[in-house]
Amino acid sequence: MPFNPMRQHFSAFNDQSDFKGIYLDSGATTQKLQTVIDITNRYYQSSVNVHRSSYKLASDTTQKFEDARRTLQSFINAKDHREIVWTKGATESINLLAACLPRSLLQKGKNIVISTLEHHANIVPWQILAEQYGLTLKVMPINDNGVLLLEEAVALIDEHTVLVAIGHVSNALGNINPIKSIITKAKTVGALTLIDGTQAVSHMAVDVQDLDCDFYVFSGHKMFGPTGVGVFYGKLPLLENMPPYQVGGEMIKKVSFKGSEFLGPPLKFEAGTPNIAGVLGLAAAANFIKSNRDTIVKQELALSRYLQQSLASLTGIKIWGDPQHKIATFSFTVNGVNHYDLASYLNIQNISVRVGHHCAMPLMEALGVDGTIRVSISCYNTEHELTNFIEALKSGICLFTNNSDSVFKNKISEEKAVDRPGELALAISQAKSWDEKYRHIMLAGKSFPRLPKEQLKEDLEIFGCESQVWLKCELIDSTLYIQGDSPSKVVRGLLAIIFEYLRGKRPNEVLDFDLNTHLKSIGLDRYLSNSRANGIEAVLDRIFDFCKEYSNTQN
Ligand code: PMP
Repeated sequence: MPFNPMRQHFSAFNDQSDFKGIYLDSGATTQKLQTVIDITNRYYQSSVNVHRSSYKLASDTTQKFEDARRTLQSFINAKDHREIVWTKGATESINLLAACLPRSLLQKGKNIVISTLEHHANIVPWQILAEQYGLTLKVMPINDNGVLLLEEAVALIDEHTVLVAIGHVSNALGNINPIKSIITKAKTVGALTLIDGTQAVSHMAVDVQDLDCDFYVFSGHKMFGPTGVGVFYGKLPLLENMPPYQVGGEMIKKVSFKGSEFLGPPLKFEAGTPNIAGVLGLAAAANFIKSNRDTIVKQELALSRYLQQSLASLTGIKIWGDPQHKIATFSFTVNGVNHYDLASYLNIQNISVRVGHHCAMPLMEALGVDGTIRVSISCYNTEHELTNFIEALKSGICLFTNNSDSVFKNKISEEKAVDRPGELALAISQAKSWDEKYRHIMLAGKSFPRLPKEQLKEDLEIFGCESQVWLKCELIDSTLYIQGDSPSKVVRGLLAIIFEYLRGKRPNEVLDFDLNTHLKSIGLDRYLSNSRANGIEAVLDRIFDFCKEYSNTQN
């Protein structure tokens, strides 16, 4: 395997790391640079506050903290260091703007324009603001593949537009949006522009002066930096005219009981003790990216090309988004195979990918899917990792489509699921390997009785899982009768495990059920530790609520 020199900068890939396997989820968060870890550690080894005390260590730390602001200024080529405001991350940055946008702009009949591709963080704050002030929320459309329709998009921006808020790069699909054309159009009508650069900054050089956007936001943790720190960039004259975001220490010029005066930007927006370690770490990350930009871009491009070709050669695969203008993120679905099933299979092979709606539910709805698998690559990945991923993906597709060279040597199609009460738990607990346990879950999922299609409605749906799940609880002769459904075979298999145990029990007996103990008793606890993500916990909550309601009526 050719050596990737980028890897040595990340402790996640050294031999002592807990991290084993292939990490293809850098869109969710990147691995952290060793320099970032060192700098944050060093700060905590001798902590002082900033902008307060004048003794040496405090003033040195304040200096470093403000130098970090200048580093980030240079990172996005902002005109003035006061245009860099520290926040917790992109979500807080967007909420800051929603809270501080001058209210005089928010008049009834005006509009805010976003796009179908937005992350929830760049939808919900504008939705709420529009509702509160009687503005219309307009949504730029996309084509069938999930690419922004530029002509229709710019046509939505009119003389009533107050703000255009759009992602630089789609987190769900990886498309690079044509933000320059959008910003140009917004300028012609005097609308403000916010660019959500969260998925852009680690992959491409950003120049806010060249873009000429009014606001630009991003998070440190998606660019090899710490969690809990991010940037809100705004043009200085705009920041000067905005009210503070939160009030308290750090942002004050003078306080008396007659009234208070605030500092100017950026401190005006930074009430309270900031995330000092995070800020110092973020600056280290920005410095690293800046000095390794060419290598990062080259490595990601080579990996992207390789993955694009490998994925395209698989039958039944649909890669969403724009194949030309994209970062190294691939979002796909496979005909006839549930995305959650595939991702859970990859998980067993120690391959970390993201599955589901990627915090972009309206986008998924527009594409007509309930989720995708997202592979997001960073400069530390290798071709060897991608080859292994493709091999595992092929095996997973075979397994779930019952092809003859299935990883379980076609046992799945030959065997029948166990169907006597208690047999499933027994079979799983006696299975000698995880592969065998998994096979029983799959078989149970395959033969699981489905709910009629007309019952798969919102009232039975359980939200918060990576796959869709529906649940129906009834009491028959004072005992629980449960039915459920999911497009995912694995989830149906998991439902079968719980249902087998709970069905026919009285509500007070059901309430004694402890999921972890049960999973442990059948040897699944190690594999299904994150029961929140795969939805079992949410399913159980619903069952418990049902039983509690019944128990209350009995008391
Ligand atoms: N916008 C985009 C495009 C994102 O990808 C994310 C994170 N997935 C966010 C906003 C929110 O970022 P954070 O959770 O770091 O605040």
